[in-house]
Amino acid sequence: TAPGQLFEMEEIQVAGNTIRAWKHAPATFRALLETSRFHGEQTFVVYEDDRLTFEEHFRLAATLANRLVDDYGIRKGDRVAIAMRNYPEWIVAFSATLAAGAVAVPLNAWWTRPELEYGLSDSGAKLLIADGERAERLSGCELPTIVARADDANWAKVIGEVSPGVTLPDVEVGPDDPATIFYTSGTTGRSKGALGSHRNLGQAPMTVAYALMSSVALAGKDPAEAAAVRRVTLLTVPLFHTTGCFAVLMPTFFTGGQLALMYKWDPKRALELIEREKITTMSGVPTNAWQLLSHPDFGKHDISSLTAISYGGAPAPPKLLERITELLPNRTPGNGYGMTETTALAVYNSGRNYVAKPESIGLPAAVIDIKVCDPQGTEVPVGEVGELCIRGPIVIMGYWNRPDATAETFVNGWLHTGDLARLDDEGFVYIVDRAKDMVIRGGENVYCAEVEAAMFEHPAIDDAAVIGIPDDELGEQVGAVVRLKPGASASAEELQSFLTDRIAKFKVPVRIWFRETELPRNPGGKILKTHLRRETLGL
Ligand code: ATP
Ligand code: MG
Repeated sequence: TAPGQLFEMEEIQVAGNTIRAWKHAPATFRALLETSRFHGEQTFVVYEDDRLTFEEHFRLAATLANRLVDDYGIRKGDRVAIAMRNYPEWIVAFSATLAAGAVAVPLNAWWTRPELEYGLSDSGAKLLIADGERAERLSGCELPTIVARADDANWAKVIGEVSPGVTLPDVEVGPDDPATIFYTSGTTGRSKGALGSHRNLGQAPMTVAYALMSSVALAGKDPAEAAAVRRVTLLTVPLFHTTGCFAVLMPTFFTGGQLALMYKWDPKRALELIEREKITTMSGVPTNAWQLLSHPDFGKHDISSLTAISYGGAPAPPKLLERITELLPNRTPGNGYGMTETTALAVYNSGRNYVAKPESIGLPAAVIDIKVCDPQGTEVPVGEVGELCIRGPIVIMGYWNRPDATAETFVNGWLHTGDLARLDDEGFVYIVDRAKDMVIRGGENVYCAEVEAAMFEHPAIDDAAVIGIPDDELGEQVGAVVRLKPGASASAEELQSFLTDRIAKFKVPVRIWFRETELPRNPGGKILKTHLRRETLGL
């Protein structure tokens, strides 16, 4: 395919709906894996002192895939759970599972034993591939388990000899076959298993690659020149969420770039790695970028290799862009919106668009259709708030084992995101809040994100979250939980009067709780409101 034709699109039928898709995207993971061999001896993954080339990765994955089939009886469609930190073995386990035709089920490595057990039983996993720490956490678990990063070298024993001529096991897999079950973040309730197809997995890296290319152009740089520099990406988020796996790992794999892994996010270590590995691209959640720029060692490392910094998965404060422009001039900043149900990013804002509209998440990706609807499903006029709905080849098949939730969320090929948004007259999307993160006070909607943004302007506030307090008369009242900066002080009255100057009276929290401990957040940095409500209100 000539480079100009790489991003050709075509119309396809998925579950009875006609959608646009990338014509030359890999049809299945196996196609992607085979293609990756073109990058042969180039380094693919770096972790501490371990380095894995594309060819080494292929051979390890193919060997493990054969073991899964021959020694563990894994068949097409079986679920294989992966419970590990960001080790290279995570990537090998993921690739091997898919190459064997099975469904990979990445579990949240931060989960406690009961949560991990929920993931294993909910997915009906037949095999677990874990790191030593997760295996220990699940000790006594009856599921057959392969353990990496453990004293007994179980991983190496299972893999055994790796032959240079190894081939993939013989399994027929098509684009409509299930490939992955990723659990949603659990911000609004219990995590749901998002069932993704091989098509989703092949279309996602193309969507990201196209977004990267257009971001370079929007930043006023020459895409051809930028493409000539091999991308070295720092992964700052867990692989077990879709941002890490589909928005960072898979595009790296697809484009032949290099990925530097971190066991856990640490801004100081990130600065060292950017210098050591000559990182060109950093991708993660907004908090990562913010903490990197605010670190006391920020000026002490040579980070001139860094040309792009992007984030997504959570609202990015417009101040972040200001900081990037100030501290990292001439870099390409980007904000991507996506959710577990859209595999990778679906809407993004970058370059001059982002500078012009820092509060927007930007425009839909090339293969994505969007609409903003009222609760009846009718499109609302431009400028009005409604639920953001998304259609395209990266929208997942549905929720695993949850026909009711699937029917509610996926309607005629449209994903109902649960996010409230509005469009401007140029089609830019603005996320207002989550439908579930709204306090309805006497019929008046109060968007928690808006109140929180106003609270963050107060100099004494370190962290804040707004929650609804049940109220007999109004249905709900606005409440807030606040953590002050060390040594700072402020009374509830003071904060309330500060807010009264900024937002309408009915939005000002009537009760403010102060806490010393950190607010409950998930690994992606999102506040877990359900936990917070339970802890604060006993609900
Ligand atoms: P659950 O669905 O289990 O309650 P969750 O929705 O937090 O949890 P994810 O799929 O990890 O799980 O997150 C997707 C959500 O993250 C989106 O619905 C949106 O609310 C938010 N989000 C993602 N990207 C952005 C962004 N760039 N700006 C603002 N919000 C974002
Ligand atoms: Mg969600």
